[in-house]
Amino acid sequence: MIPPLARRFVAGETAAEALDHAETLNDRGVGAILNHLGEHYETRDPADADAEAYQRLVDDIVQMGLDACVSVKPSQLGLSVGEDVFRENLSRVVDHAAERDVFVWLDMEDHTTTDATLDAFEAETTAHGGGVGVCLQSNLRRTHDDLERLADLPGKVRLVKGAYDPPATVAYRGKGHVDARFRDDLRYMFANFDDGIAVGSHDPEMISLAHSLHEEFGTPYEIQMLMGVRPDAQFELADECEVWQYVPYGERWLSYFYRRVSERKENALFAARALLGI
Ligand code: FAD
Repeated sequence: MIPPLARRFVAGETAAEALDHAETLNDRGVGAILNHLGEHYETRDPADADAEAYQRLVDDIVQMGLDACVSVKPSQLGLSVGEDVFRENLSRVVDHAAERDVFVWLDMEDHTTTDATLDAFEAETTAHGGGVGVCLQSNLRRTHDDLERLADLPGKVRLVKGAYDPPATVAYRGKGHVDARFRDDLRYMFANFDDGIAVGSHDPEMISLAHSLHEEFGTPYEIQMLMGVRPDAQFELADECEVWQYVPYGERWLSYFYRRVSERKENALFAARALLGI
């Protein structure tokens, strides 16, 4: 069972718990991006099993009439086993979801996976005329070129600062530098994308920049935030613009929870206080 302190960031171990959480979010005007936790599989079986789990999840979303979509990780669908395995599993999930009008996001993992992830995204979104999205990381030096590549494709792009720690040869280092790149990338998207802009950030400065860019260019956009991070702000923002919450769930919650707690001092303090009961 997931301890209460991890429940802030993870909806539960089962799809049913995540779907319940999605229903609660929908009642308050926020969409749910459901992520069945799993990554870095070195064999085919768990990758195939997760691809099937996502298809069942899509069926549940449709059956419950939820305002929800799914987000998958390439290494969860078999990228570490082989690009062909990943592409096969991704096609299964996207075909199934597209037939049922459920959107599929592709998370972006470390920089060694960017080419394979973008190639797979391009193939799927072109084949289906949209219904698929991919994440790009502003801390990577290549991202402006990648945005140019994706600008005229159907589908959506989620811009994030980047959760991995790539080497300086491929990445901008330092928060100030990454923030500056994020601002430039966001402006490029609002100026050059017709629609399909998702801002994956909790940063109030970037969120208000997105509002201003929307006023300047008129391009539609959505804000995406993680479960457990600035939850009140998520509900408040939903009165002003489209907001989606990324909702992870599943038995492999421990490493995800550890990442959330270790990336920010306030989260670590929250965990320590909860453990000590103060
Ligand atoms: P930061 O630069 O971390 O913080 C800036 C400001 O935001 C802070 O000063 C504070 O005001 C506010 N803030 C940030 N965190 C908190 C908090 N916990 N509590 C209160 N205030 C806070 N990364 C990837 O590499 N690949 C992905 O596929 C990916 N998908 C993502 C999907 C979503 C929906 C989101 C929200 C993030 C995703 N990320 C992904 C993570 C992302 O790259 C960043 O690591 C993460 O969002 C932190 O950056 P930030 O822009 O939120 O702000």
